[in-house]
Amino acid sequence: MAEKNVVVIGAGVAGLTTALLLSRVPGYRIVVAAKHMPGDYDIEYASPWAGANYMPVSLRGTDAAEWDRKTWEVFNKLALNCPESGIHFQDEDCEIRNRSKDVGSATADWFSELLSSSPWFKNVVPSFRTLSKEELGPGIDSAINFTSVCINTALYLPWLVSKCLENKVIFKRAIFRHISEASSLNIHPSGHVDVVINCTGLMASKLGGVEDKTVVAARGQIVIVRNEVEKMVNLSGTDDGDDEACYIMARAAGGGTVIGGSYQKGNWESQPDPNLAVRIMKRAIQACPELTGGKGIEALDVIRHGVGLRPVREEGTRIEKEKVGNLWVVHNYGAGGAGYQSSYGCADAAVRLVRAALEVKTKL
Ligand code: FAD
Repeated sequence: MAEKNVVVIGAGVAGLTTALLLSRVPGYRIVVAAKHMPGDYDIEYASPWAGANYMPVSLRGTDAAEWDRKTWEVFNKLALNCPESGIHFQDEDCEIRNRSKDVGSATADWFSELLSSSPWFKNVVPSFRTLSKEELGPGIDSAINFTSVCINTALYLPWLVSKCLENKVIFKRAIFRHISEASSLNIHPSGHVDVVINCTGLMASKLGGVEDKTVVAARGQIVIVRNEVEKMVNLSGTDDGDDEACYIMARAAGGGTVIGGSYQKGNWESQPDPNLAVRIMKRAIQACPELTGGKGIEALDVIRHGVGLRPVREEGTRIEKEKVGNLWVVHNYGAGGAGYQSSYGCADAAVRLVRAALEVKTKL
């Protein structure tokens, strides 16, 4: 079979993982073309801002749950065998704390599967258990605990690039106004493109030929601190507002501790809100006093305040193939707050669609 030429638009976790999995299949010549690349920090580029951890929010029996399940298998192997990927198990486990009063809030809705005492992933992640009443802190009605990973995105994204480069994937900077430009501009060295893979995240809402208006921003504000903590902690909600969140996780290999957050739908504000930052820090030390050894927020040693926009799609991540004019397009965008934890499952599904699209093309 002659080599097939593919352009992946996007160098976030979706584009890079898809390019990597496709590059392991013989017969593809792949270009990743994107406005932003690992190393950049921009409000249109969600991936560097993520925590990122594995905390499945997908619902039982859905494709999304299957994508998350497949991704755990890979993250588990990387955390065990590949420290250079920037993924580690935290020394202690991931604890999800549930307050009954949060039911119905944006955060609790988003976490609904996580807050179940018997979520689908209880047999996937190691050491899953429900905490006893005696172990619960004040104001907490129930909690689960399991082994999870935290990804240092500043190491992991360049690691994905390096793995792609080993497999001869080409990287280029480009800005597309319309998806068809990925095949018509001088992007692929062959001058001909068989398939374009659309991994544009939130910007799928603006890219010509796609313009998916069901993709909206869910603004996440974070603080990265030098203070260290053993446990990863997440709460079902906060007393400060429906769209605020409380989580703490320590990135691998000196990446600092990420404390968050918020889930502000429809909000594109790129600058950190200083008042929200104070609330985030106060909640974090209340949930995890060991962060500051019992002292106040002035004992937090701040590396950076940040804001990222989760690409939330109404019907969930779009993994589909379609013809745009004469061009085969495979979509992989709209993962919301789950772009890392679903990354290998989504990329695997997208690669299957690329292969299916090209088989159809040869039959036509
Ligand atoms: P992006 O990372 O946004 O990448 C999009 C790419 O497309 C970029 O390279 C961009 O330049 C390119 N692009 C877009 N339009 C064009 C165009 N027209 N022309 C050229 N290039 C274009 N997920 C988890 O799994 N676990 C977590 O713990 C977690 N925590 C998070 C915390 C925060 C604060 C935030 C904001 C997100 C978090 N997420 C988490 C979600 C995760 O970050 C996203 O789901 C994921 O990064 C989306 O990746 P992506 O590749 O689809 O999009």
